[in-house]
Amino acid sequence: MKLSLYLGTYRNVKVFIHWTFSLLLLWIVISNVRMGAPAVDIAWTIGFVLTLFFCVTLHEFGHALAAQRFGISTKDITLLPIGGLARLEKLPEDPKQELWVAIAGPLVNIGIFLVLTIILSITGFNLEQLNMEELKINANTFVLFVASANLILALFNLLPAFPMDGGRVLRAFLAIRLPRAKATQIAGTIGQMIAIVFVFYGLFNNPILVFIGIFIFLGAAAEVSHTTQESILKGFKVKDAMMMNFQLVGFDAPLSKAIEKLLGSQATHFVVVKDDVAVGTLSKDEIIRGLQAGNENTHVGSVANQSPLKIETEEDLDEAWRKMATQNQKVVFVIENGHFLAILDQENISEFILVKSALLK
Ligand SMILES: [Zn+2]
Repeated sequence: MKLSLYLGTYRNVKVFIHWTFSLLLLWIVISNVRMGAPAVDIAWTIGFVLTLFFCVTLHEFGHALAAQRFGISTKDITLLPIGGLARLEKLPEDPKQELWVAIAGPLVNIGIFLVLTIILSITGFNLEQLNMEELKINANTFVLFVASANLILALFNLLPAFPMDGGRVLRAFLAIRLPRAKATQIAGTIGQMIAIVFVFYGLFNNPILVFIGIFIFLGAAAEVSHTTQESILKGFKVKDAMMMNFQLVGFDAPLSKAIEKLLGSQATHFVVVKDDVAVGTLSKDEIIRGLQAGNENTHVGSVANQSPLKIETEEDLDEAWRKMATQNQKVVFVIENGHFLAILDQENISEFILVKSALLK
């Protein structure tokens, strides 16, 4: 999040704006100046873009607040030049809930469109009085532009291009009848086909559409693979994948001891012990960081993770995997009857997925 500017928090959701957003504004100014547009026109255009992104923020809050109703929190919302991105802690697995969360965003834009249309008709706005040849944003047309843009935003987002909102709606409908992994595969394939159309159309007409197309194509691939992996883990418990064989390293030992073990074995994670009790984990990354900040004599305890995530042997493996991903923990403690028993790391789970998917074929 370092490359983003923090804007504020509403209902526990932080809002950031990505630095590339300034490039969008700069591009608008430069291209308008080159076309010889007067300063007042440029100001209206900038005002329009900022208003539009405020509507995009409201759209993302539509998703976030709908998810909150189902007990799912949202880490943050980031505004990018190609639109907003709400990072939900997880996606609802119940298709009906997913449907609501997905459709809530476009519904916000439709709501804004309706309100502005009513305002326009109350104020006696007349479309026929406009000079369509030279339509530009000014005090007279501002509301009309914002209203139309919201309608376009809603319709565009409702295209069934998974993982865009419409694609999520499609997946949710499919998932009512089909297994979730299968529904995601179908929605993902349709999404990628639409993405290819976007890229080709965008190459000749609109460069932003090219970016959106690439974004959708990669996003669909990532989500299909993620959902497939998750479905493989379903039905298994943490104890099925945990590692009982692990390397130990002393809390007070120097990092050189850990490096010796790192180079002399397959292990990339260590369990840190103090007085025969497991007190933390030490990863390859932490060793490297320790070396950069200090030297080989830096003691293990000062760089180890002393509060690793603790999960139970009987916990569902897919749930554990999700927790590790959202809390960004590569290795966790596995606990049985309140006592440390084993570790579970992401490589472990990846290998487990590989083996099980090979057996499925
Ligand atoms: Zn959306």
